[in-house]
Amino acid sequence: MSKKRIETTCVQGGYAPKNGEPRQIPIIQSTTFKYDTGVAMGKLFDLEASGYFYTRLQNPTNDYVAAKIAELEGGTAAMLTSSGQAANFFAVFNVATCGDHVVSSATIYGGTFNLFAVTMKKMGIDFTFVSPDATEEELDAAFKPNTKAVFGETIANPACSVLDIEKFAKAAHKHGVPLIVDNTFATPINCRPIEWGADIVTHSTTKYMDGHGAAVGGAIIDGGKFDWMAHKEKFPGLTTPDDSYHGIVYAERFGMGGAFITKATAQLMRDFGSIQSPQNAFYLNLGLESLHLRMKRHCENGQKVAEFLAAHEKVEWVRYCGLKGDKYYELGQKYLPNGSCGVLSFALKGTKADAEKFMCNLKVAAIETHVADARTCCLHPASTTHRQLTDTQLAEAGISPTLIRYSCGIENADDLIEDIAQALDKI
Ligand SMILES: *Cc1c(COP(=O)(O)O)cnc(C)c1O
Repeated sequence: MSKKRIETTCVQGGYAPKNGEPRQIPIIQSTTFKYDTGVAMGKLFDLEASGYFYTRLQNPTNDYVAAKIAELEGGTAAMLTSSGQAANFFAVFNVATCGDHVVSSATIYGGTFNLFAVTMKKMGIDFTFVSPDATEEELDAAFKPNTKAVFGETIANPACSVLDIEKFAKAAHKHGVPLIVDNTFATPINCRPIEWGADIVTHSTTKYMDGHGAAVGGAIIDGGKFDWMAHKEKFPGLTTPDDSYHGIVYAERFGMGGAFITKATAQLMRDFGSIQSPQNAFYLNLGLESLHLRMKRHCENGQKVAEFLAAHEKVEWVRYCGLKGDKYYELGQKYLPNGSCGVLSFALKGTKADAEKFMCNLKVAAIETHVADARTCCLHPASTTHRQLTDTQLAEAGISPTLIRYSCGIENADDLIEDIAQALDKI
């Protein structure tokens, strides 16, 4: 049989039950695992044998789901984390430590921006934020001798910009560091960043992968193509002995395909403990089983709603890379030829109060701090997430007072459009 197609992987990847075993992945709701001898368990502690001993480090349910996500992204190994925030923190902290520097696209999720610019900065890691539209020369100029990674989002939340993954990968590799791509909005159904040169992929599985607003979670996937030993001096954490594991050298013992995830599990999950609960991993897997079907509908709805809004006289502008004339239309056609996602942003003509009134009058779309869910939801940053800012400060942050982030669910597009139309009529 040829290599499985992605739809089949969504449904069946990661778990292959043997004769008489459960068809659905079992939820191993156990914190710990039993051994006959201390010696047998000791081998696990030394990473000499693989197996389970404590769920903070690994759990079989999580591993089935991680294996499915690795297969979907075309990676060699993956791990689940308790949230998307934990995934991005682990992915970066696994290669960058105090005294290091990271180059990141400036258009990233607000939570990730805080994590980088405030919290990780306090840990002694410095970030340079570059425009996603930076030229090769501008990107080059952002690197320092202590740069350890480059970071970006395939489709940025909420800017809706599309990352030129090949350009960012080229710059990262020229400087001997990996490219980490947060692929939350595109999902592997619409883009597989590893195929375009990304080395590490992260997800907030809370969004489309779960897709039903049921479980917060994250994932990290290793593409297995980054040669840590070729840049030995840059990545001592992977290429020199780990004293907390009797001097194991991850890149030697686990090779290019396994070193990154093994180190992140053995050190970061051990010490920071942001494991996803097996119950949540089970919910996540239910979401993954229909990801390919849902993404198609999210994109169809996104396209129809974006086209409706773009043609409406009360709408100032719409950002959606599927719209001809959008700043990211060409990059969207290259990296996301089958559709991008269901999230778009737009600004109304008028005032902040008009935008608030519009939002209140929506009946199908709900006001939520969430995106990428089966149910349509929307957010007015100026009156919620960014409400402490003045109009001048909003402008500096690139958020117009009437900007609305609208996340198309998988309902009927005509209902979404009629809902928007009646709410626009009221302003
Ligand atoms: C939501 C989100 C995150 C954070 O994920 P949580 O699961 O909420 O911790 C990270 N990146 C992107 C692109 C997101 O949309």
